[in-house]
Formats: sequence, C-alpha cells, structure tokens
Amino acid sequence: MQERWKRSETLLAHYQISLDDIAQLVFDLQLPYIPQITLEMCRESVRAVLAKREVFNAIMVGIELDEQAAQKTMKNKQLERIILEDEPLFGIDEVLGFGICNLYGSIALTNFGFLDKTKPGIIGKLNDKANGCHAFMDDLIGAIAASAASRFAHRNDNEREGE
Ligand code: MG
Repeated sequence: MQERWKRSETLLAHYQISLDDIAQLVFDLQLPYIPQITLEMCRESVRAVLAKREVFNAIMVGIELDEQAAQKTMKNKQLERIILEDEPLFGIDEVLGFGICNLYGSIALTNFGFLDKTKPGIIGKLNDKANGCHAFMDDLIGAIAASAASRFAHRNDNEREGE
C-alpha cells in the first residue's frame, strides 16, 4: 500500500497542488524565526502532516464537498449554493482546517488565521473563483501549511534545548 503521505500528495496533485506549493508557505512562515531553514526541511514537515490519518480524512471530506458542489450534484441545494459562492460566513470550511491545526497546537491555529487573512501563494490561487470551486481546499492547504510550520517550530526548539 502507498504510504499515507504519498496518497495525500496524489490526491492534492489531482488538483494541481504540489508538495512544494505547501512547503513554500511553510518556508515563508518560518524564515523570520529560523534563518537556516531550507525548502527540503519544509517538505519533510509537510510530508509528516500529510501522513496523519486525520489529515488524509479531512482532505477527502473537503475535496468531496468541493467536487459535489462544482458538479452541482448535491442533494442539499442550499449547501451547494453556499459552497459554490464560498460564503464568508459559512465557516465550516475553516472548522475542517481547525481539525487539522488542533493536532499541532496553538501556533498552528495562529498561523492558520494569518494564512486565511493574507492568502499567499497557492492559497490565493485557490481562493480565486475563476480557478474553480475550492471553498474547502484553500482552508485545507492553509491548515496543512500552518500545521507543518508549527511542527517545525516545535522540533527546532526541542533541538535547541537538546531534547
Ligand atoms: Mg474556504
């Protein structure tokens, strides 16, 4: 069986989202705090987040909802409209992101809020409705990047303290 992170990566690649798109977000988040950081270190952290069962499950749920809405095959037409319009007050897409961030502590949550507000890189592209229905996907990617950054920050600190 394929490693779980690889399955998550394959799932995201289907939507033209690469490991490096996410690693770049992690790099930009952590560079001010860890000047010696490299993109490869960020890739490793993203892979670790993608390997978690809960993360893979969240990706599957988000993709399914985005896809069903895009194809207009949802039974609940009110929900379909909300997802298609990516209504700002819907909030459940962010809650799915919280589910991922909660596995990595408060730094993941604050990073997630920052990415949600500033929408850098791939998140900005996904947020552009011209590129398709990504009501859930932008939050999933933000949460994965924020979590990988938090994981990295904690690991780096543990190393400094010799743990
Ligand atoms: Mg969203």
